[in-house]
Amino acid sequence: MDAGARNLRGDIVAAARRLDALGLNRGTSGNIGHRAGPSFFVTPSGVPVDELSPDAIVEMDFSGAIRGAGNPSSEWRIHRDILAARPEINAVVHTHSRYATSLACLHRDIPPFHYMIAVAGGDTIRCAPYALFGSQALSDLALVALEDRKACLLGNHGQIALGRDLAEALAVAVEVESLCAQYWTALQLGQPHLLSGAQMLEVLEKFKGYGRRQDV
Ligand SMILES: [Zn+2]
Repeated sequence: MDAGARNLRGDIVAAARRLDALGLNRGTSGNIGHRAGPSFFVTPSGVPVDELSPDAIVEMDFSGAIRGAGNPSSEWRIHRDILAARPEINAVVHTHSRYATSLACLHRDIPPFHYMIAVAGGDTIRCAPYALFGSQALSDLALVALEDRKACLLGNHGQIALGRDLAEALAVAVEVESLCAQYWTALQLGQPHLLSGAQMLEVLEKFKGYGRRQDV
């Protein structure tokens, strides 16, 4: 294995530990994928994060064949299909984080109640309909919900966040969870005031000007 692939495996393990430390994933739930040239890496199935090692990260090709050894996450199709359809995306993070999942259980798109919704690339964060975990149907529905977006909710399941690299995908996942917590909290008091299409367009334009930095 070359040094780049080894480093990437290590970065994926570090990102999985970070998700756990941030409380976005617990135990064996959630998974991470990353493009690796003509193939991709995905976290293994059923390995608790504190037992995860770089060697346990599974390499697959885009036909779904395992290169080498390992048992990939049951959601490997989501990672493969997103990386195949979205050349600008290199990292995919999937979590069952508390607030994003709670709202996903309501099958509710997150509306523009806060300008940071634009972090996902549009004026909503869509929620994909329910489909069985690990199924091609779930991956297909996720891809539709992610059109022109870097995040979506999965009905009765969790969230997906995308990035050019692991750092961005993690940052988007953290922000989506935070937005879902804020939306949930605001809903306890009434119906949040929503920003208009024009107001969100203004934010999206300004975000473009920030380039790689979206931590505003
Ligand atoms: Zn899941």
